[in-house]
Amino acid sequence: MNAITKFSLADVDLAMCRHWSGDLPYRAVVAVSIQPLQGTILYQVAGDASTPRSAIKALKLATEKYGGICFYCKKDKAEEVSIELTIDHIEPQSVGGDSNLTNLVVACKPCNAKKGHQLIDAFNPAATEEWLLALAKQIQQRFDKLKAATPPS
Ligand SMILES: [Zn+2]
Repeated sequence: MNAITKFSLADVDLAMCRHWSGDLPYRAVVAVSIQPLQGTILYQVAGDASTPRSAIKALKLATEKYGGICFYCKKDKAEEVSIELTIDHIEPQSVGGDSNLTNLVVACKPCNAKKGHQLIDAFNPAATEEWLLALAKQIQQRFDKLKAATPPS
């Protein structure tokens, strides 16, 4: 049996997600644990006490429960009930993009289809900047945590 240990970077992932869009589904997704052997981070959706899920499944459930905003065109499910929300890999899986929370966003179906297998840089430079700034912020937070945890020499 694999031991499930507490995933200490949960706050980092959440901070990054808040930065992306202030989108409710992201705030509703909480990292709960990491399976050390498989390296899989599991997430819990707020208000749902059932089994923790992979990032994709947790985001999907969160958008079903709470709606969401397209990362690319900013259309809001709360304002346009007819829009269909999907989960997009920012770096496409076809070029090695992973399924971690840092590589996933909520996107409306038309934007996800238009993006296809393109790199985000070519598809939407403004969204690329937003994503890179969020990654830079996450890296800075990890540096700060590391420095805070390291005793001065
Ligand atoms: Zn869209």
